[in-house]
This record gives sequence, structure tokens and C-alpha cells, in this order.
Amino acid sequence: MRFGVHLSIQGGMEKMARAAIGLGCETVQVFSRSPRGGKAKPLVPGDVARMKQLLQEHDIGPLVVHAPYFINLASTEESKRAYSIQVLAEDLLRAEVLGAGFVVTHIGHKRPDEPSNGEQALSRTIDSLNEILDMYSGPVKLLLENTSGQGQEIGSTFEALGKLVHVFPLDRVGTCFDTCHAFGQGYDLSDPYRAGEILQAYDRILGLETLEVIHLNDSKMGLGSHRDRHQHVGKGLIGLEGFKEIINDPRLKPGIPGIMETPNDSPTADEDNLSTARALRLARTTGAETGHVKE
Ligand SMILES: [Zn+2]
Ligand SMILES: [Zn+2]
Repeated sequence: MRFGVHLSIQGGMEKMARAAIGLGCETVQVFSRSPRGGKAKPLVPGDVARMKQLLQEHDIGPLVVHAPYFINLASTEESKRAYSIQVLAEDLLRAEVLGAGFVVTHIGHKRPDEPSNGEQALSRTIDSLNEILDMYSGPVKLLLENTSGQGQEIGSTFEALGKLVHVFPLDRVGTCFDTCHAFGQGYDLSDPYRAGEILQAYDRILGLETLEVIHLNDSKMGLGSHRDRHQHVGKGLIGLEGFKEIINDPRLKPGIPGIMETPNDSPTADEDNLSTARALRLARTTGAETGHVKE
């Protein structure tokens, strides 16, 4: 697994790349526009070219783009759904210009009177995804992220995500697994044995071949709380043992990005999370070697 953090692009793409290098990132995630809305700022070709070169020189990749949070592919309001489609198609194109491999998006929200992960909301989502893929036919893959099932959120269970992702070709649509969201939905990743089983269920229902990005976030909120509050890796209710299991699972694609979207509550927060993750990656290898010697 390659580790990285979510970085701001407020000062431009080159500045973001320099920050990623400074932190020792192996991969990195950005928003391609303000996550709260408004028109996307045009990308500056020189700035983008310098960013690409820096990332390449320092072997940082893939670059992952996160779509804004206001996206609602299941909206029953036609104007909102159309706007979400337009923004996501635009973000895929912007991601391609940036040299990114993936755009990660949350799916959106159902109507309050619809059942959780209900068929109608899923079918509106499929229509929206079809429209997006008609508008954008480039190489960037769209990844659907699991949610914590907060409020009317869609896509909190592997089953619901499976009904969406399997409709589309594997090279166009994949999945992103967020550990904090899964814990909020009730998948107990704090128990290392259960964590292995959960990835097995993911494989059975969604297919680990669809999994392209992992969001390595610990959770401030309880198992099954349906709340989405990220915590530093190992400092929340998932804890180090659960993360160690996920990070070292041999069934994951080699070099899969493990991105931390953890709180920025101290000047060294990102650095600390990256070194925690790296220590867990090494911990398993060292443990296995020690065990071997003892035998
Ligand atoms: Zn996430
Ligand atoms: Zn979240």
C-alpha cells in the first residue's frame, strides 16, 4: 500500500506537490475545486505541468481527485441531479488534465420516505452514472465511495454499492473503501480477525478488483453510529490493530493508495499519520520474520 494524505490546492498545484514531497507522501489526494460549490477555477497549464513533473520526479502517485460533497446523483430534483452530473463529468476531465487516475465520489442522498439503499434511489443513481459516462469517455476511472449511512446517505452497505458498480464496465467505474465510514455503518474493523472477514465480504459482494483507493481514516464515533467523524489513524475507535490488518492484507492490489483524510489539528498531524501508517506496514513484515526465526 502506498500512503498519502488529502492536500489543499488553494495555493496552486505546484505548491500542493511541494507539500506532498515535504511530507514524504507516496500518493496524494486533492479536490479539483472548492468542495462547497461554486464554479471551478480554471487550471493553469504551467502550474499543472510543474506539479506533474514534481510528482513524477518523486515517484508520488497515483494522484486521486475527490469530487465535491454536494454531489447528489440520486436527487429527485432534476436541476440538482443535472448539476451533479455536469460537475462530475467536468471533474473527470479536470482529473485527466491533472494526470490523475481516479475521481472518488460519494453517491448522494435518497428521499426521506424511501427505504435505505432502496431500488428507486439506486436506479436514479444508475441513470446519472450512465449520463456521466456518456459525457466523459477518457481514461480516468470513477470510484464510488462507501458512506457511513448518515441521514439519507446512499451506498453505506457493500450490497448497495454492488448493485451500482456491477452495472458498469470495470475499467470505467470502481470503488473506494473508507474505513471510518464502514465502521460508522457497522463493519467492525477494530477487531483484526473481523477486519479480514470484512475484506473477504467486500471481495465476495463487490470484488476486490473494483477497489482502487482506500481512505485510511479512524473514527471518533461508535460502531454502527452512522456518524462520520474522522480521527487520526490508530487514535480512534478502530485502533492500530484493525489498521495493521487492512494495510497488510495480501488480497489488496499491490501499491493501492491508502489516503488519510484525518484532522489537521496540529502542524505535524499529516506527518504523524503517515509515519503511523508506515510503522504498521513494517510491523507486520517484521513480526512475520521474527515468527519464522522462532520456528
Ligand atoms: Zn473518504
Ligand atoms: Zn468521511
